[in-house]
Amino acid sequence: MTSPSSAAGPIIVWFRDDLRLSDNPALRKAVDSGAPVLCIYVFDDGLDGQRPLGAASKWWLHGSLEHLAGELEKAGASLEVFKGSAIDFVPRIAKAVGAGAVYWNRRYTEAGIAVDKAVKQALRETDVAAESFNGHLLYEPWEVTTKAGDPVKVFTPFWRAARATGDPARPLPRPRTIEGWPWKKGTSPAPVKLASLELEPTKPDWAGGMRDAWTRGEAGAQERLSTFLDSEMKGYADNRNRPDMASTSRLSPYLRFGEISPRQVWHAGHAALESGRSDAGRDDLDKFLSEIGWREFSYHLLFYNPDLARRNFNARFDAFPWKTDSRALSAWEKGMTGYPIVDAGLRQLWTTGWMHNRVRMIVASFLIKHLMLDWRVGEAWFWDTLVDADPANNAASWQWVAGSGADAAPYFRIFNPIGQGEKFDPKGDYVRQWVPEIAMLPDRVLHSPWTAAPHDLRRANIELGKTYPKPIVDHDDARARALKAFETLKSAA
Ligand SMILES: Cc1cc2nc3c(=O)[nH]c(=O)nc-3n(C[C@H](O)[C@H](O)[C@H](O)COP(=O)(O)OP(=O)(O)OC[C@H]3O[C@@H](n4cnc5c(N)ncnc54)[C@H](O)[C@@H]3O)c2cc1C
Repeated sequence: MTSPSSAAGPIIVWFRDDLRLSDNPALRKAVDSGAPVLCIYVFDDGLDGQRPLGAASKWWLHGSLEHLAGELEKAGASLEVFKGSAIDFVPRIAKAVGAGAVYWNRRYTEAGIAVDKAVKQALRETDVAAESFNGHLLYEPWEVTTKAGDPVKVFTPFWRAARATGDPARPLPRPRTIEGWPWKKGTSPAPVKLASLELEPTKPDWAGGMRDAWTRGEAGAQERLSTFLDSEMKGYADNRNRPDMASTSRLSPYLRFGEISPRQVWHAGHAALESGRSDAGRDDLDKFLSEIGWREFSYHLLFYNPDLARRNFNARFDAFPWKTDSRALSAWEKGMTGYPIVDAGLRQLWTTGWMHNRVRMIVASFLIKHLMLDWRVGEAWFWDTLVDADPANNAASWQWVAGSGADAAPYFRIFNPIGQGEKFDPKGDYVRQWVPEIAMLPDRVLHSPWTAAPHDLRRANIELGKTYPKPIVDHDDARARALKAFETLKSAA
């Protein structure tokens, strides 16, 4: 870290995955310095080696940037948006405005870290101070270690070690006013209009379902958190596996884009319980915060295994005999596998950009084990279609289901999509919402329509194979095939 130079220019706050004003360490530090503040966002679209955002994430980003710009304006500043390589643009912008310093909150992907290093280096060469902060995690990946000082590979000891380092810092207050640095027209490089990034779909506009489901931006995040803590967290420990209930927080896209910080979630959760505002139990809060712990663990894994989305954490899986089957993949993507709980999840994903965690596990297990398709194929689909597509959580979770990950479910644990549906969607509300063409089936056969008697099918207006697919694989056969493939892996080891 170097101190801001005495230049009369502004301090630049470079926004990335921290699209909020409250508990934003980089912004807070810039405002507290007393210098005018120039807020920027650089959309690199993969130019700097980062994985390009998926379509649903781009849609989210548009709304989030729009909201951030509005909030900054209300506080007295503005958001200047650029399109291009950040390695090129950030130092040039700093030079053009005579910035005293550039502040940002850290990222943890390999490419993100490389970009930040390059920018820091370039700024220092021109005597512009650069400083980065933790705005994304409760604990920095390197702060949590085994007793021997190594990275931790198992969740329970990871979370125990993380918690032993103490409570996460209190969130920083939101700046009430920000003295903005007015961008002079004609300064190069020139900012662009947000719309010119073409982040939102137009022809066709497929984002209607996502628009109905979400309010993007910091205010939407705070509202979601309050609603969850006040009226939905009660019962979380028991109900979090129930896709038919509003049983989880749905904070994931807000955490992904940093419209809310995990520190805020942590402290608001405790405050809600202590003040009696929430009638949830302590076990509900602890379980909920341990899921935030899984997010921390995923980032810890990503930091020490930068190719987590590309390479098996457990190299033994490199020899796995994955299949290539474009018809099966397409049926899975479209939610047309013939297994109602699987199809419901994939259609919820397609329509809203989000899927319940239990169903994510079921559909991932189905792709990997019933269809024997490489987990990376599913990871890529989620990356494109999830509004919360996250470089750490997505990769770590797919590897967890595949059995190739750290502290993963064993490969031989193969979810039965019928049993899972009956257990976690017992009345079939979730399936009926997302697979309406079988909604009229009686509960007892809803999760296995092919077992329905002909008169049940007739009464429900279903013609299997026409109005709803027959199962694309037989569960017992697929299970046996997957286990056999796994055996070859064991004998090859
Ligand atoms: C195959 C697969 C892929 C996934 N891909 C993603 C992804 O791209 N982005 C993503 O944020 N989560 C991912 N998850 C984890 C989890 O499904 C979602 O975080 C969760 O469903 C989001 O809903 P929520 O906010 O209501 O969760 P809540 O139950 O309310 O949990 C609160 C927060 O904790 C974190 N969290 C919860 N579960 C997990 C988990 N298992 N691993 C890591 N963090 C967790 C999330 O940030 C979440 O918002 C994936 C899970 C699976 C099985």
